Amino acid sequence: MPAPTNPSVITREALRLLAARRMPPTPDNFRVLYNEVAGIADDGDGAPDALVRTLAKKLPRDSAERARLARQLDQALAAGKADAVETALFSYVDGLQLEDAPTWNALIGTLLKQWDNRQIGWTTARKRDSLERVLAANDPTTLYSRLQGLVRAWSQAPVDPEAPTTRDGDAEAPATAAAPPQPVLPPEVHLVASGEAGELITSLRELLVVALETVVPASLGEHPELVKEAERLSASVKASATSAQLLGVAKQLRKFAYRLELIAGDTAEVRAGLHNLLRLLLENIEEIVIDDQWLHGQVEVLRDVVNKPADVRMIDDAERRIKEVIYKQSQIKLNLKEAQNTLRSMLAGFIDHLASFSESTSSYHDKIANNAVKIGKARDIAEIGGLLDEVMRDTRVIQEEARRSRDELQAARDKANLAEQRIVELQKELEETSRLMRHDQLTGALNRRGLEETFEKESARALRRKVSLCVALLDIDNFKKLNDTYGHQTGDDALIHLISVIRRNLRPNDVVARLGGEEFIILYPESDLEQSAAALVRLQRELTKAYFLADDQKILITFSAGVSPWPHGAPLDSVIERADKAMYEAKQSGRNKVVGKPAPPAA
Ligand code: GH3
Ligand code: MG
Ligand code: MG
Repeated sequence: MPAPTNPSVITREALRLLAARRMPPTPDNFRVLYNEVAGIADDGDGAPDALVRTLAKKLPRDSAERARLARQLDQALAAGKADAVETALFSYVDGLQLEDAPTWNALIGTLLKQWDNRQIGWTTARKRDSLERVLAANDPTTLYSRLQGLVRAWSQAPVDPEAPTTRDGDAEAPATAAAPPQPVLPPEVHLVASGEAGELITSLRELLVVALETVVPASLGEHPELVKEAERLSASVKASATSAQLLGVAKQLRKFAYRLELIAGDTAEVRAGLHNLLRLLLENIEEIVIDDQWLHGQVEVLRDVVNKPADVRMIDDAERRIKEVIYKQSQIKLNLKEAQNTLRSMLAGFIDHLASFSESTSSYHDKIANNAVKIGKARDIAEIGGLLDEVMRDTRVIQEEARRSRDELQAARDKANLAEQRIVELQKELEETSRLMRHDQLTGALNRRGLEETFEKESARALRRKVSLCVALLDIDNFKKLNDTYGHQTGDDALIHLISVIRRNLRPNDVVARLGGEEFIILYPESDLEQSAAALVRLQRELTKAYFLADDQKILITFSAGVSPWPHGAPLDSVIERADKAMYEAKQSGRNKVVGKPAPPAA
């Protein structure tokens, strides 16, 4: 195929390749690809600036977002800022990558088409069931990817040639138009209706037993409860001799399959989480100022992720931590760069100055030497006087210049000291970035922001699994008195002590966050009100055993708590408010108590 010659076509293709090969859209990379597409030998010394300018002119601005990003690129080019050019190009190319996926309109169009098709094994009821489960996703990205998966599954399933054709007689699924429409029956009904029922039941039974006794244990080793359930089902399958009995087992099998699907959903989430994590690390590795200690910490997190059985919550946490560090690091790095640039430009100014200074002094020496010769040859005092005046003038000029230089140098030195100081400060800040923004600095528990994010995930999980999630609010009793008696520092130590006791006593999936001051939130996933309240009472008991030491004195810390189940779909604030009311009741009834408040009746 001949290489294209139209610059606009070449530009588009080069951009496409940049995205497809996931190369950073630097001017150099773009030049290499541009030359590759145009069939021009790349001598490694093109004029990237000119090419990027041509590219910027050709970029389609057919949407508000694209126009905005292209404008950003224009401005970066006008300002001659290589970094900004790169960022603008990155954003534009990222936008292009999104386009690989079908639009919502196209996706829904295909969904409707596939809904009408009669795929083998997909009854309308089963389709509706799957669609309902997909629609339970509570954010657009998840909904989109699940919907895409569902449509793919339907599209790939063979279409039943006996089934009535699609509504518009679609060419993609030619059906025997003459065939009379037949009701689509669930497979088990076909089984009963068949004349070879006995033989079929035997093979079906064998198949089920193989699946339950070998496939399930092999792929679900880490879910012993499911393996047990599979064994039980297998025994029921073996025991059912008639189609009616087998149909009875089928009901339980469907339930079991649903549980398997849930686990598969989690596995997919784990995989997506891991993928995100890896992508984040790779994409941002350049952003990271290489700092041994920091890298060490990140490697530890990743090692944890790889070593433990991959768990969605742990990956979420690792991803959150890494995102934060990357964000903070890039912020600080930017400032660091600025400070370094100030130093560099000052150094350049200083050298220029030195050069001009030595230039003027050497011309001064020349002038003085010249004047000395003239003075030697002078014939009268008037002539000497004139020459001396000239020498004096030159000397004054050079003196003035020397003074100015000294002042300027002093000012430059002061500025350099300041810049250096700033660099030291920034570097220190950099070392502290492992203290994360979603975690409370004092206790290391999640802060409000971290709580909101975690709640979003936990509530989605509770909704999906149709299980209870309880929210507890804890408030330390008489904390003001402790502060007043022992001082604020001891108060702080008491908060740290409380969190460490809470942490030791939580289940791995429970989550603790500091709401502010001496108030904490605990999320109890998969627990009902009674279980959560019991967990809080246990925690109170443990706290009385774990004394807190201040000035060698044992101090007993207690808390009052309110707890309430999250009504599916309710905002976090409303359930916290309910827990807060319950906590207040606990205070009223004498402190060191737990009060549970059931969810309000559904509206
Ligand atoms: P109650 O049992 O009714 O909750 O009494 P209390 O004294 O705990 O409640 P109050 O709200 O009157 O006082 C809370 C105190 O907590 C007041 C404030 O000085 C202190 N406090 C809030 N945040 C911090 C903190 O970060 N560190 C320390 N040391 N004290 C804090
Ligand atoms: Mg309080
Ligand atoms: Mg209090």
